[in-house]
Amino acid sequence: MSNMETLLQEFAVVAASPKAQLKKYKEQGKKVIGVLPYYAPEELVYAAGMVPMGIWGTNNKTISKAKEYCATFYCTIAQLALEMLLDGTMDDLDGIITPTICDTLRPMSQNFRVSMGDKMPVIFLAHPQNRFADWGIKFTMDQYHDVKKQLEKIASKAITPEDLKEAIKVYNRSRRARRAFTKLANEHCDVITPTKRMQVLKAAWFMLKDEYTEKLEELNAELAKLPVCDWKGTKVVTSGIICDNPQLLAIFEENNIAIADDDVAHESRAFRVDAPETDDPMHDLAEQFKNLDYDVLLYDPASAENRRGEFVADLVKKSGAQGLVLFMQQFCDPEEMEYPYLKKALDAADIPHVKLGIDQQMRDFGQVKTSLQAFADVLSLRA
Ligand code: SF4
Repeated sequence: MSNMETLLQEFAVVAASPKAQLKKYKEQGKKVIGVLPYYAPEELVYAAGMVPMGIWGTNNKTISKAKEYCATFYCTIAQLALEMLLDGTMDDLDGIITPTICDTLRPMSQNFRVSMGDKMPVIFLAHPQNRFADWGIKFTMDQYHDVKKQLEKIASKAITPEDLKEAIKVYNRSRRARRAFTKLANEHCDVITPTKRMQVLKAAWFMLKDEYTEKLEELNAELAKLPVCDWKGTKVVTSGIICDNPQLLAIFEENNIAIADDDVAHESRAFRVDAPETDDPMHDLAEQFKNLDYDVLLYDPASAENRRGEFVADLVKKSGAQGLVLFMQQFCDPEEMEYPYLKKALDAADIPHVKLGIDQQMRDFGQVKTSLQAFADVLSLRA
């Protein structure tokens, strides 16, 4: 097996087994903090000497115990995250952070608190609606200070400014490596299939970022040695909250559809923006949150219509893709409400798109398969 195959295999194993990663870190004597979506300052967890572990639901369970706490119209990501905490999958966690960016996560943060009881600390995190004004930055910093205090209690260790500066360095390096990877994945889409691309990016949520980045930089170096591929199929940009279902991504591969770039919350939206590196690291984290843009989950003061549509249309053109695949998470209000603006921008830019309704309990992909086959035919006329 070549070095590149070995690295890809390692990322695939991690992506498929967060529980095994949790066990591994616990056996090393480390404390592990579950981090729910979106935009929790993982750097604080790392700075406390603990392991942040992403909790984005799962494709391998059905909602059962979580039904007791959740309205049926909550998205499956939120419900299955709670399911994993209730059914013992994540029992070894030392705490969780629950951001509250959307109308589902706000009440869910209380469901997590009530359901976890004394089992583990639940750290509430509210981001400001307006993250740009001075008072918005101050609000973010106050919230982060509160998260820091609770993490210090769990870690039995004070987080110094130097710890935090170092954590920001580690995370910026990781974000740079992931951005480089998505570019290389586009240039080498014959090697980095949609499934492999997902596995590499998904593994970042379950590994300490310094370990992850070292491996990813090695993989990037291997990819950079290859000649840019002469792809005969079609290319798309993907958009949405998450698409980590191997069965769904296999349909892309069956139809020779490569992923040129993405606007997915679980993938590129999480590493588009670095934090500044100054002498005030807590302010740097708040600045980073302020600088996030083109995201349906975040307030956009520049326009009554979210500018994500134009941004995504531009992404399609710049990446050399012929169209966009939108993964529409069932019952996700923010994504559903912004869809008309996205469609308008794509139509104006003459970019074809297909909207696929998905959720993490999906087991039958027949309809998706038919839609993607038809979409591939449309795109091949433009390739
Ligand atoms: S999928 Fe949508 S509704 Fe669910 S947690 Fe994410 S943003 Fe909120």
